[in-house]
Amino acid sequence: MLHDQVCRAANVLKRNGIKKGDRVCIYLPMVLELAISVLACARIGAIHSVVFGGFSAQSIADRINDAQCKLVITADGSYRGNKEIPLKSTVDDALIGCPSVQKVIVLTRTRTPVAMLKGRDIWWEQELKQVTADCVAEEMDAEDVLFILYTSGSTGKPKGVVHTTGGYMVYTAYTFQNVFQYTAPVGERAPVHFCTADIGWITGHSYIVYGPLASGATSLLFEGVPTYPDAGRFWDIVDKHQVNILYTAPTAIRSLMGMGLDKVENHDLSSLQVLGSVGEPINEEAWHWYDDHIGKNRCPIVDTWWQTETGGLMISPIANVTPLKPAYASLPLPGVQPVLVDESGKEIEGNGVSGNLCIKFPWPGMIRTTYGDHERCRQTYFATYPGLYFTGDGCLRDEDGYYRITGRVDDVLNVSGHRIGTAEVENAINMHTGVVESAVVGYPHDIKGQGIYAYVITDQMPADHDADLTKRDILATVSRVIGPIAKPDKIQFVSGLPKTRSGKIMRRILRKIAEGETTNLGDITTLLDPAVVEEIASGVL
Ligand code: AMP
Repeated sequence: MLHDQVCRAANVLKRNGIKKGDRVCIYLPMVLELAISVLACARIGAIHSVVFGGFSAQSIADRINDAQCKLVITADGSYRGNKEIPLKSTVDDALIGCPSVQKVIVLTRTRTPVAMLKGRDIWWEQELKQVTADCVAEEMDAEDVLFILYTSGSTGKPKGVVHTTGGYMVYTAYTFQNVFQYTAPVGERAPVHFCTADIGWITGHSYIVYGPLASGATSLLFEGVPTYPDAGRFWDIVDKHQVNILYTAPTAIRSLMGMGLDKVENHDLSSLQVLGSVGEPINEEAWHWYDDHIGKNRCPIVDTWWQTETGGLMISPIANVTPLKPAYASLPLPGVQPVLVDESGKEIEGNGVSGNLCIKFPWPGMIRTTYGDHERCRQTYFATYPGLYFTGDGCLRDEDGYYRITGRVDDVLNVSGHRIGTAEVENAINMHTGVVESAVVGYPHDIKGQGIYAYVITDQMPADHDADLTKRDILATVSRVIGPIAKPDKIQFVSGLPKTRSGKIMRRILRKIAEGETTNLGDITTLLDPAVVEEIASGVL
């Protein structure tokens, strides 16, 4: 059925002028048509650029323009819990500034009224009636581009990470089959793999679509949130569909942990065989809760470390093979060569050490370039430590040689497993009228892993009764510029920021204050105005 639907969707794309090498932006909810659209692009050699459904019109426009997409696939709206989210109208706003887009295919999901522009906008369902299911797959070179996926870094706008056809597909299938110990049965029901990520992120690309489907697995797509209609939703799905592999994020585990065990205990979870964790470091408490209450101490937990740029899993236990240690991504997969380096790039050898995580040798799923700007790719990943791929993560290797990822060492935040650049959030805050300057740092957050803390200077310090409203205006601005996922959790108005004499913001100090450390702030004598630190520390939220 999937093959049939993919061929039909591919013919719709062709009918609308899309050919090998053209870029197609996909902005859809987590419905089957999202996976079908992705595969339809792959079938005809078009390059997909999936944009997560929570991004704003501005973010969509930036991504469409960077890749010069010719066509957009979207839906009228989507469901999120009990809310309806408009998608087409957000795309309409984005397209005001996107001259490259010639066609918009609109799927009916919520049947909310939408504007349909003559000559540009067409309905998915009507288009499908015009095509057959015969579509020969385009012949591709292993190194032809398969997709672009935008991700945040420490500077500038998000960059388009490019993955190619052969290596990416091989690597996602290889890692899926080995790490989760997936074997395709002969003549029986294929094991059910439930990855709770959104296809808008790399985890969804690699472990909902490509890895499982290339392996013949049944991949379960879930359009919804883990807490609606109640906190038992995941366990309900596992029970109902007899899920064998569950792959989710620490944030989801932490939020469900807090909701009590009664939502877990009334479900049959005996079908589960392997549990996975991805996206951020998993704390020991969450690891044990997952192990005790979901896996019932009989399912291995694979804590998989990897990135958008790596295409697939890099450091991870292999289920039922690697001895586990809570909160450790454990050992590199066969073929992966991690090294730890110090600030000067010198390799740190031996065990019981920590440093910056790099990879020494290429692997099939590695980033090939950043779309349209190869030099940026070189600068970002290969220039910090010549001869090495730099991950941006800090890592420790314990006495047993086991790896534990400690978090980003650059100006990138990981909020609920979503990667957000501090510079991006600052730019968005600075677009709010009256804001003079801002500095954004992360702080430990019980559920999200990291929360966003913004220090903001306004042209006039808002009076108490105005401060709350101004904060809400700033949040609305960030939502409009990036999307709700980038909204700061805390905003503190300050009269100045701690800067060195050369004008560089001392983020180390701001990070400490946001973490609640107000006295032991290290050496502040090199600051232009040390007094500002006291003011900030006394007003910490
Ligand atoms: P993304 O490219 O959006 O998937 O984000 C990749 C980043 O998420 C990595 O650089 C890490 O900082 C973090 N990350 C992903 N998986 C793990 C993991 N298992 N343990 C710790 N951090 C992780």
